[in-house]
Amino acid sequence: MPWCEPCARYLAPSAMTAEGRCPRCGTIAELNSISGRPLSGSDLRDLAGQDKAPWHFKLLVFLLVVYLGWRIVDLFI
Ligand SMILES: [Zn+2]
Repeated sequence: MPWCEPCARYLAPSAMTAEGRCPRCGTIAELNSISGRPLSGSDLRDLAGQDKAPWHFKLLVFLLVVYLGWRIVDLFI
């Protein structure tokens, strides 16, 4: 959410001007990440890298597939 420091308020993306400035005071609104730090290029790369699932999630999916596979096999025996 873009934050305007002089006005001390959040700006909706549609409320900003085309240049990303505050419509009231004209300063460039800061784009803050969820943690409150200014969003940098490395943060964007971190967010992009988070699509890798953790190993325990893959294990859970694997066990779910094995279980459901066995349930299907179990129908016919
Ligand atoms: Zn402002």
